[in-house]
Amino acid sequence: MILKIIILLVLYILAAGCGTEPIQEPKQPNIILLSIDTLRPDRLGLYGHNQFVSPVIDRLSQQGHTFCSVTSQSPITAPSHMTMFTSLYPEVHQVRNIGDGEAVTLSPDIPTLAEHLKKHGYGTVAFTDGGNINSALGFGRGFDMYGEVGAEQFMGFINLQPKEPWFAFLHTYFVHDPYIVPDLYNKMFDPDYSGGIKGSLESYDNNDNFFALRAEFWETVDFDDIRDQKHLLNLYDASIRIIDITLQTLINQLDELGLKDNTILIITSDHGEEFFEHSRILHERLYVETLSVPLIMIDFRNSVSGNLIETPVQLIDLTPTILDYLNLPPLPGAQGVSLTAGLYGERLDKRIMHALAHAPYNSHMTSKGSWKYIFNPITNPRTIDASWMGLPRPNVPREELFNIEKDPGEMINLADVHPENLENMRTLNDDHQHRMKELADQLTQETTRIDDSVMDMLQALGYIE
Ligand SMILES: [Zn+2]
Repeated sequence: MILKIIILLVLYILAAGCGTEPIQEPKQPNIILLSIDTLRPDRLGLYGHNQFVSPVIDRLSQQGHTFCSVTSQSPITAPSHMTMFTSLYPEVHQVRNIGDGEAVTLSPDIPTLAEHLKKHGYGTVAFTDGGNINSALGFGRGFDMYGEVGAEQFMGFINLQPKEPWFAFLHTYFVHDPYIVPDLYNKMFDPDYSGGIKGSLESYDNNDNFFALRAEFWETVDFDDIRDQKHLLNLYDASIRIIDITLQTLINQLDELGLKDNTILIITSDHGEEFFEHSRILHERLYVETLSVPLIMIDFRNSVSGNLIETPVQLIDLTPTILDYLNLPPLPGAQGVSLTAGLYGERLDKRIMHALAHAPYNSHMTSKGSWKYIFNPITNPRTIDASWMGLPRPNVPREELFNIEKDPGEMINLADVHPENLENMRTLNDDHQHRMKELADQLTQETTRIDDSVMDMLQALGYIE
């Protein structure tokens, strides 16, 4: 796992002082935004799972705010993260994973969280795990320093001593597949497993070729064996435990340097992961297990006693919330809303939610109240599936309708049973698509050419075929 993480070391310093002079603000807190890619909230203790998996995050949450139900706007890495940074729906910012059609770089018309914070006096630094969080797609915009350095390095940003107050975006693929962990953790999380999955890092001879490693891992999985399915989840839990420990080291380091008490830590993810709830694994569809993400906010200046915010919210609301909490002006054009009222114990309004998945299903989701609607324009993606992992993609119905209050796991499709609700939700979904397209059409669009070395890397990582 550790070896998969060292991907590419691309550090470039954007010319300091170019453009307008930063606006002077009163002393502001430092901010860490930690995105643990592919992290399901329900595998964390604070969201109800076994306490042993995430004791550090669980404990931290006791001093801060936990959003109990957060919907990501895409189960796909690049569009979801770009929604986080721009507070725009994926249909509007149009950034996709590399290899999924022509590479679009973020429109120069769209401001980002990092640019905005920089404008208001923040030093900005990003330590990401590379892959689709690629600066060529616009992720580097607004950062004084944007590094694609690997997860285990993510606390190295402190050594750079960014200008205070600083905003640090930290991102890791540590819990992303393949779920390969040191043998110690494999044994700790599934001591009785005797099947064929090669989940221990030590069992691989050649860790240098990540694509080979990933393919080899999935080749060892018997998808029909319930015990193997369970073992995958245990390995996933083990990888969460490791990142949880890493987080403790980061907190200690901040504390030793006297930085912790003026820092806000935000922990979230871009999407979840399927573990056979709907006959499949990974993250391509719009069910609850792929769209739910954790969102925890700890302001070490003002510890609170485990504030839970139960109203369902969206990841698109994160940037408006951060800026509002800092008393900074909102991001122009933002489509999300500030959730700060929830941080002060007030009730939030429940809003209509939307999400989008690109290839292979090209699905759209709208939910309102107890109803969730999914439109799947491509119902039989097997025809376009290289199926490198050996598990065919299932067919899906063209339309799905779930009563998420009575059926939170989204198991029973009621599309044929409730034609009126279906019609209402279809209309809401269509209207949203129409409005987002109109907004997107007003933006300057720029395609970009992804560097050959990056394409080679992504191919090696299995992102593109
Ligand atoms: Zn992701």
